Amino acid sequence: MPGTLILADHVGGRMAGSTAELVGAAKALGRPFGEPCRCLLIGDRDLCARAAELSFEGVDEILTVDVGSSDFDATRWAAVLFRVAAAERPRLVLVPHSANGMAVAPLLAAELGSGLATDVFGIRVEGQELVAVRGAYGNKLEMEVDFPGRELVVLTLRGASFPPAAAGGAATVRAWPLPAEELPRSVRHGGYVEAPASDVDIGKAEFILAVGRGIGDRENLPRFAALAERMGATLGCSRPIVDAGWLPKAHQVGQSGKVAASCKLYLAFGISGAVQHLYGMKHVETIIAVNTDPAAPIFNVATYGATVDLFELADALEREFA
Ligand SMILES: Cc1cc2nc3c(=O)[nH]c(=O)nc-3n(C[C@H](O)[C@H](O)[C@H](O)COP(=O)(O)OP(=O)(O)OC[C@H]3O[C@@H](n4cnc5c(N)ncnc54)[C@H](O)[C@@H]3O)c2cc1C
Repeated sequence: MPGTLILADHVGGRMAGSTAELVGAAKALGRPFGEPCRCLLIGDRDLCARAAELSFEGVDEILTVDVGSSDFDATRWAAVLFRVAAAERPRLVLVPHSANGMAVAPLLAAELGSGLATDVFGIRVEGQELVAVRGAYGNKLEMEVDFPGRELVVLTLRGASFPPAAAGGAATVRAWPLPAEELPRSVRHGGYVEAPASDVDIGKAEFILAVGRGIGDRENLPRFAALAERMGATLGCSRPIVDAGWLPKAHQVGQSGKVAASCKLYLAFGISGAVQHLYGMKHVETIIAVNTDPAAPIFNVATYGATVDLFELADALEREFA
C-alpha cells in the first residue's frame, strides 16, 4: 500500500508538536507518497488511549502499539516501526528530527534497506520520484537528495519547516497487536529532567533583536533586553551568550538552539554569522546586521548592514524608542 507512515513522537507523556508538521508535509505530497497518511503511536496503554489527539486533518488512520511503556527506547521503537512498515508497506516513513527521531531513523533505514535523508527541510515529488532537500557542509549549501530504485524512503524532518496540519481530522484508530516480550530493549529509563520554564518562543517571534559576543560584557545585556522590549522585539542571542550563562537556552538562535521560523525582521548586534547561527536565521526576510568587522560572514546574508560600533547604534535606537 502506498502512502506515509508517521512516527508520533512524545516525551514524558506529552505528545510532540512535530506530528502535526509531519502530517502537513505528507499532505502536501499527495498520492502516492503522502496519502493515505497513517500515524504510529508507540507507548503504554494510557498513552495509546489518547491516540485521538493525533487526529489531525489529513490523517486517515492512527496505529497504536502498546509496548507497556511510554519511555523512549531506540531499539524497541525501531523494531516496532520495522514490523509495522514491513506489514503496511508505505512509500515514505516520516520521523521528526528530534533526539528520539534521530536515534530511530538510521536503525530503521538500515533494517529496511530503505533510502534515508536526515534533517530535511523540503520535500517534493518530481515525476514518480521523491526529492528531499537538506543542508550540506555544515549547512553552507543546500543539497537535493533523490532515492533511485528505493521503494521506501525514511526521512527525518527539521522542526518548524513545514506548515502544521490543523486539528479536527476524522482518523480511525487501530490497535496493532505486538507482544512487548517479542521486542528488544536497550535502555533502562532513569527519569526526566524538565527544561527551565521560559516565556520566550524564538520559533514564533516575528521580530527578533539578537545579541552576540560583540556586546562584550554581561552587564551590557539588560540594556539590550530593555531595548528589545521597547522596540517590541523578542530577545535572541548567539550560543556564546548562553554558554556564558548570560541568557537561558530558550533565547538561542541556531543549529543547537531554535530556528527563527516565523521571524520577518532580525536585528543582529555583534554576531559574526557562524554557519551554526545562520542555520537558525538566514531565511529571515529582512536581516539587519551591526558589526564593526566588514568581513563578518553575517553580511553575506544581511539585507542591510552597518559597520558601526553596536553601542553607538544602541544609543541612537534608545533615543528613537525613548
Ligand atoms: C555543534 C555546534 C553547534 C553550534 N550551535 C550554535 C547555535 O545554535 N547558535 C549559535 O549562535 N552558535 C552556535 N555554535 C557556535 C558558533 O560556531 C559560533 O561560535 C557562535 O555563533 C559565535 O557567536 P558570536 O557571533 O556571538 O561570537 P563571535 O563569533 O565572537 O562574533 C562576535 C562579533 O561581534 C563583533 N563585534 C565585537 N565588538 C563589536 C562592537 N563593539 N560593535 C559591533 N560589532 C562588534 C565582532 O566583529 C564579531 O564579528 C555552534 C557551534 C557548534 C560547534
